[in-house]
Amino acid sequence: MTDPNFDFDLIVIGAGYGGFDAAKHAAGKGLKVAIIESGDMGGTCVNKGCVPSKALLAASGKVREIANYEHLAKFGIHASPVRFERSKIADHANNLVSNVRENLTKTLKRSGVEIILGFGRLEGNQKVGVRDNNGIDRIFTCKNTVLATGSSPFVPPGITLDNRTVFTSDEAVKLEWLPRWIAIIGSGYIGLEFADVYTALGCEVTMIEALENIMPTFDPDITKIAKKNLIQSRDIDTKSNVFATKITPGCPVKIELTDAKTKEIVENLEVDGVLVATGRSPNSKNLNLDSVGIKTIKGYIPIDDQMRVINGEKIIPNVWAVGDVTGKLMLAHTAAAQGTVAVENICGGHTEINYRSIPAATFTHPEISSVGLSENDAKEIAIKESFTLGVVKSYFKANSKALAELESDGILKLLFNKDNGKVLGAHIFGMHAADLIQEIANAISRNQDVIQLATEVHTHPTLSEVVEVAYKQAASQVK
Ligand SMILES: Cc1cc2nc3c(=O)[nH]c(=O)nc-3n(C[C@H](O)[C@H](O)[C@H](O)COP(=O)(O)OP(=O)(O)OC[C@H]3O[C@@H](n4cnc5c(N)ncnc54)[C@H](O)[C@@H]3O)c2cc1C
Repeated sequence: MTDPNFDFDLIVIGAGYGGFDAAKHAAGKGLKVAIIESGDMGGTCVNKGCVPSKALLAASGKVREIANYEHLAKFGIHASPVRFERSKIADHANNLVSNVRENLTKTLKRSGVEIILGFGRLEGNQKVGVRDNNGIDRIFTCKNTVLATGSSPFVPPGITLDNRTVFTSDEAVKLEWLPRWIAIIGSGYIGLEFADVYTALGCEVTMIEALENIMPTFDPDITKIAKKNLIQSRDIDTKSNVFATKITPGCPVKIELTDAKTKEIVENLEVDGVLVATGRSPNSKNLNLDSVGIKTIKGYIPIDDQMRVINGEKIIPNVWAVGDVTGKLMLAHTAAAQGTVAVENICGGHTEINYRSIPAATFTHPEISSVGLSENDAKEIAIKESFTLGVVKSYFKANSKALAELESDGILKLLFNKDNGKVLGAHIFGMHAADLIQEIANAISRNQDVIQLATEVHTHPTLSEVVEVAYKQAASQVK
């Protein structure tokens, strides 16, 4: 398979989850592969994202559980006051990061992938340049290039970071200190997960959201129950419809809040720390994209469903892009799936990705998850495609396992096509929602209908019966 006319069959720029998967898959297919990384092997997910944040959520979740005397007392359990060591929780996250990073690097080396440390860029067609940390520049030829440069925290204008009192998730995952009162700017999944960690560890949180409502990206029914459990019942104060127009680091940190509609300054806050969780920006600068005619859209590299980089209708030959830098469902498993699809197509396949079957989860306690269409999008599509939309809800309070765990506040909303029974989407709030969503994601991926799904037997007593109940309700409504 190796082409002797090139230094490499494939050069991947960026060793995050997307780049890792592409490089490993390509090496497995017999290609000569190099991967270029300018920071830490493993990218955001391993070093500053999924891995450390889930380690912090695991530890702080245990603290929350043991500290919840009222809940434990309902089981007849009386625990002694809970003590925790912040630095050991931080160590748990840091050690996990090192382990996962080491394993990922070893896996690439074992697969025969050449790791090149430095900043990569395109150098025209089928050429890649790399500048290493010592300023040494090299040019390599390659048959194909995969751009997998990921994303970085977006910090709105007016906000000054000092990375100590005002910081992003890049620093928050290190848990270097616990501000007594912390403001979290943004109520997306990253803001919610950190609010979960901080409140479990005794911090007071103020959540600030520029849009009209807190948790604007979630399903409204899910938001209602999630707000009650994750925000209102905790030491969290919320302010929506306001922009944090100026944040000055220090002791205290000063925050100026401006009304989103009137543009008038409405409040000044003084807090101990601020976490800025206002989304992510693509890493597409300094890649010399012009050298092959790539035009980014709001910084994102445009691709088709086969991961080929495109400029309008035109396909840019031999250049592929995957992961956060493409701006599609910015999650680690999306990046990895895109990496595999890109390599399949580089090797002559015609594989496409179905973004509708990719699940997303927020690992709060309890969790939130979703897959497929939102109810609003489903309504629009139903009108356009002339089918009847079905919506059913299944409740954790009717589930024996949830009741046994005394965790029965939860809901699953299933969206389906009443004419043919096909599953269109699902939204879940409740214990282990992140695991439950997978079954529905698989059903969407396999294009299954609820009549067939309703016949599948689920283990009793498990939370998966919440899904079974939804399928059965939906099946009874199919025309
Ligand atoms: C706090 C947090 C929690 C998250 N939790 C989850 C979660 O639970 N589940 C989930 O699925 N996703 C989660 N994510 C999102 C997930 O981390 C990203 O979607 C994923 O890392 C994207 O992978 P990627 O390969 O596209 O990019 P990245 O992981 O960002 O990797 C890109 C790599 O490219 C390198 N690079 C950039 N430019 C160059 C260059 N020119 N030359 C060489 N190297 C370069 C960077 O240094 C980086 O290592 C989380 C993110 C954050 C911030």
